[in-house]
Amino acid sequence: MKEYPMNLLEFEKEFATEEQCREYLYQLRWPEGYYCPRCRCKEAWKISNEKYKCKNCGYQTSVISGTIFQDTHKPLTLWFRAIWYVTSQKNGTSALGLQGILGLGSYHTAWLWLHKLRRAMISPDRDKLHGTVEVDETYIGAPDTGGKRGRGAGNKALVAIAVEINDQKIGRIRMSVIDDASSKSLHPFIESSVEIGSTIVSDGWNGYCGLSEKGFAQAIQKPKANDNDSLLPHVHTVISLLKRWLLGTLQGSCSKDHLSYYLDEYCFRFNRRKSKSRGMLFYRLLQNAVRLQPSSYKDIIAK
Ligand SMILES: [Zn+2]
Repeated sequence: MKEYPMNLLEFEKEFATEEQCREYLYQLRWPEGYYCPRCRCKEAWKISNEKYKCKNCGYQTSVISGTIFQDTHKPLTLWFRAIWYVTSQKNGTSALGLQGILGLGSYHTAWLWLHKLRRAMISPDRDKLHGTVEVDETYIGAPDTGGKRGRGAGNKALVAIAVEINDQKIGRIRMSVIDDASSKSLHPFIESSVEIGSTIVSDGWNGYCGLSEKGFAQAIQKPKANDNDSLLPHVHTVISLLKRWLLGTLQGSCSKDHLSYYLDEYCFRFNRRKSKSRGMLFYRLLQNAVRLQPSSYKDIIAK
């Protein structure tokens, strides 16, 4: 199968009907053909347009069960349009924007869909960063009051950022909300984002001490006299781009509770910024969407 549409015209042609959307999901979910999620048997009766019944154990499944589309009352054609819209907007989109473009009756539905899609922006088996990686933290959510490092205050959230450096240029990035700037918070972020053996470039903050015992090489940058700007230039560029994006796309209305999903969206877009085809992003998002456990409204607001 052709992996993804190259432009809007192709998209409209390839995903005009429920059947076309279902078939696409089927190929993404079972590229080697259907198998039972319970007993792995490869034979099934097709009992409706979308339902399959395992010939071995009788378990019933559909192409959307166990994916982010499970229990949806809306057509897949509408979902696919939402995904095309979200991935073709270079700088992201707001719930209001999505509601308008799809003609959804409720803002709430648009908001919920966007959150479900943000969850599908992170691939469950993505590769870690490697090579030389700059790491720093920043506060998001309120004006910088110059509070002490490591002490999250009020509505501010502390975010750790890792930036891969290839030939002096910014490569892929990772971000995560962390509790504080202690080594107890920073080390797990680095270990989950960066391959062992890589070089971690940071400032001299003591939260970064002890990484060499965990298999990383360390390069600590010290500020030249009164010139903090020359420190960690790559990660600082990414931090200012992130802050601008949060202000622009979300008009700054990003609650601390959902910040980690906005960060996922930012990383998804940033790491694919050089991708020529927006169709590629559409494909990646759908690929993750069929592999993710469904999340309900309750799950999403419970965060
Ligand atoms: Zn079975």
